[in-house]
Amino acid sequence: MTPRLTLALPLSILLAALASPATAQPWPAPTPIADHSFLHAPAPYQTYRGHALIRAQVRDHTEFNRVLAISGDCWTHTPRLEEPIDFLIPPGGLDAVRALRVTFDILEPDMGDVVAAERARLSGPQPRGWFDDYKDLQSISDKIDDLIALRPDITSRVIVGPSLENRTIFGLRIDSPTPGPANTIKPVIYLHAAQHAREWVAPMTVMYVAEQLVAGYGSDPAATAFLDTFAVVIVPVVNVDGYVYTWTTDRFWRKNRRANAGGTFGVDLNRNWSFAWGSDNGSSGDGASATFRGTAPFSEPETTALRTHILATPGIAIALDVHTYGQYLLSPWGHTATPPTILPFFNKYAKIMQTAIKNIHNRTFTYGPCYTTLYAVSGGNVDWWYGDRGVITWTPELRGGSFAPPPTDILPSGQEFYAGLLALAQSFCRADYNHDTFTNGNDYDEFVVDWIDALPAADYDRNGFVNADDFDAFVVEFEEGC
Ligand SMILES: [Zn+2]
Repeated sequence: MTPRLTLALPLSILLAALASPATAQPWPAPTPIADHSFLHAPAPYQTYRGHALIRAQVRDHTEFNRVLAISGDCWTHTPRLEEPIDFLIPPGGLDAVRALRVTFDILEPDMGDVVAAERARLSGPQPRGWFDDYKDLQSISDKIDDLIALRPDITSRVIVGPSLENRTIFGLRIDSPTPGPANTIKPVIYLHAAQHAREWVAPMTVMYVAEQLVAGYGSDPAATAFLDTFAVVIVPVVNVDGYVYTWTTDRFWRKNRRANAGGTFGVDLNRNWSFAWGSDNGSSGDGASATFRGTAPFSEPETTALRTHILATPGIAIALDVHTYGQYLLSPWGHTATPPTILPFFNKYAKIMQTAIKNIHNRTFTYGPCYTTLYAVSGGNVDWWYGDRGVITWTPELRGGSFAPPPTDILPSGQEFYAGLLALAQSFCRADYNHDTFTNGNDYDEFVVDWIDALPAADYDRNGFVNADDFDAFVVEFEEGC
């Protein structure tokens, strides 16, 4: 078998490959946030006075559901029976939990103190370093402008689309002039964060990645090698309305700001994706629930905009949907206990990331499928990336002992996550076409068969077409070996 198969391509496929990729439509500028005066504004904002944060050891599924019924808000992102689980308990609820004879520790007797201290800190004089404390939406947007001004040759602003309240979901693309293999589309790593509004460490962490890559390109060997191999798209805040709401009104708001039927608010954007959408095992049909899935897949402008931008971005090889907290690297599936056949492939790279992360600050990130015996995720982003798009994906759950960890967690989180990402990029092998963790003749044979049949899996550069570029890029990377 030789690469001369390229000559057998129909003219129509070649012409299609020459057409420009689709580009996203421009949207109006974001609603400006002029200053930080809202931090000084009097209530009404949710003070969380009298809410306790507990860490409980539940014994079974029934007990989990009983505590959740008292709490309404489980803070452990992916709860597991074998590990303690955090719950926010409203005023007066502790006695009800005690009555269940559930073993628990009180992590924070009054989250009202935490919220008040954080607001006081953020409304005071800010430290010099950008990563020394949390940043509101406008500050994140301004930081992207700064990075573009620093290196306009390798950066561009990404316009994802409008939110429900007509803010613009924005991001940053970083790409060096080096083309992909055989002058094809360079593979893209797509990072997005804050589908869940209150997870403030997540946007800060992906912005740290942005700064390291932009500031380091051309001088730092790791950043340079990274950007000469992968382009990166970073969308720091997917849930822009919810994020603003956590700054103005309710620090621990999770969902978007949809006014649901019945007077409740918010759709959980990470239950609104179309793959395996709608199951009561892993999402809720109740608008009051923290995991309300919405009225239909992609009912929400935020998930729709992100999907549209993803489909208009050729080359996506890896996607990471960044959340907090718990220190996990979660792979598909979320909706079923049956793992995908390529679980060893996911685990191979998760272990590489785990080792690199641990080397920085000695934090252990546990890896494995998203689904747990206590907790399914249906309509989640991680299943859509892999199940619908065939993209290799993880949901990282970053560090942090609550949704309001001290700002001293921001830089270490960025440092360890960036190390994990670099290790992933350095080791990731697209030429392991069958994802069996080895790259050998089987990969070559299987690719060629799929390519001749023009199967979607053979769209090596992920631009929507199976054509000569896919063949050429695969052969180059296969012959490089990995
Ligand atoms: Zn989350």
